[in-house]
Amino acid sequence: MEWKWKTIIEPFKIKTVEPLGFTTREERVRLLEQAHYNLFNIRAEKVLIDMLTDSGTGAMSADQWGGIMRGDESYAGARSYYNFEEQVRELTGLREIIPVHQGRAAEKILFSVIGGKGRYIISNSHFDTTRANVEYSGAQAMDFPAKGALDFDKTAPFKGDADVAAMERFIKDKGAENIPLCVMTVTNNSLGGQPVSMANLKKVQELCRRYGIPLFLDCARFAENAYFIKLREKGYNQRPVKEIAEEMFELADGCWMSSKKDALVNIGGFLAMNNAEWAQKCRQLLILTEGFNTYGGLAGRDLEALAIGLREVLDENYLHYRIRSSAYLGEGLIKKGVPIVNPPGGHGVYINAKKFLPHIKPQNFPAQALACALYLEGGIRGVEIGTLMFGRRDAKGNFIAAPMELVRLAMPRRVYTQSHIDYVIEVCGSLAKDKKKIRGLEALEVSPILPHFTAKLRPL
Ligand SMILES: *Cc1c(COP(=O)(O)O)cnc(C)c1O
Repeated sequence: MEWKWKTIIEPFKIKTVEPLGFTTREERVRLLEQAHYNLFNIRAEKVLIDMLTDSGTGAMSADQWGGIMRGDESYAGARSYYNFEEQVRELTGLREIIPVHQGRAAEKILFSVIGGKGRYIISNSHFDTTRANVEYSGAQAMDFPAKGALDFDKTAPFKGDADVAAMERFIKDKGAENIPLCVMTVTNNSLGGQPVSMANLKKVQELCRRYGIPLFLDCARFAENAYFIKLREKGYNQRPVKEIAEEMFELADGCWMSSKKDALVNIGGFLAMNNAEWAQKCRQLLILTEGFNTYGGLAGRDLEALAIGLREVLDENYLHYRIRSSAYLGEGLIKKGVPIVNPPGGHGVYINAKKFLPHIKPQNFPAQALACALYLEGGIRGVEIGTLMFGRRDAKGNFIAAPMELVRLAMPRRVYTQSHIDYVIEVCGSLAKDKKKIRGLEALEVSPILPHFTAKLRPL
């Protein structure tokens, strides 16, 4: 349906509700102290608007809950598996469909089969679990983001694209025989949820075909990417999103999905491909850690809900609401003088804390300070993507700041309404007025592995 109104009308009515976690400011002062200024340590019940992640935090539909009851829990050959397989096959056109409990399980299995020392995986940008699994196999994960992707002020329609020329130089340099896979992450999660254009996907596919390198999609947010193509790419305006998504998958030899994103479920994933030899090896590993071929670490009911979610996510009224909501949050923040990564991505908005809080030095974690201030001011939980997450020390012990200081406000799917977003904008606006009062933090304890999860901090 054409939507000409400014109001973002949520394309659903609400049947089940959950209370939000209201707290007083006094309580939040205490909670932050107890949590050592690390928002991962705050109980979710004490968060009013939880924008930590869009992963597994979505709301299922009445139809999906119905599917949960219909789920077939047979160990082998369950009806729910066949519903799932048929749905994934219809969408992707791929032959071998392997269920897994979430995205990283697919990555672990795939890279155990095709990774290894001396090999390179090339990508527009690897997501962090993808990179970790590639590297754990002994292979190297190489990113080739489009030029300008890291220029946060510049708006461009497809900042998730790959730099095809740079990819080709790398292939020539290292030899195609050492590159078992190219993966395009759609949308590009690590770079702000920015979409990849169909034109770029086609160029990457053409490159891969020329050098005989299989192309996979890391398709956690395939529907959001397809909708951005419809909105922004010439020639796609009149095409149904479902067709655009199918066209994306037609270019690929395989894919994996964290279904906690665009399959609108709280847990689940899959790995799919045409290469029967790889699939056979993957299934052997699947049985070792995930389970039998027809459930792969999921309950039958999960497979049922996943299959339904894959259909529902292509509803254009839903996608309009989804993408408009992120854009609306972004526009609202800009109006309040809060700088963001432009343009807003599909699954959230990234506040540029380096620009917002220039008085806080990188070693005092400006983005983490802002994330804590947001919680203190309004009970809102975002996540730091900055020096706490990516800061390093060199061999001599010198501090190296992260290249960016961002706070991601991720949007859970079908969970919050326009008035929740208005509230977030209002709180951010209030912080902007008094931003000089926001103080940096100092680290008390930072572990070398995934420091943001366990770090302990205190205010200066
Ligand atoms: C979330 C995500 C993954 C990992 O999936 P999990 O379900 O969290 O294990 C991989 N790639 C991308 C692009 C993701 O967004």
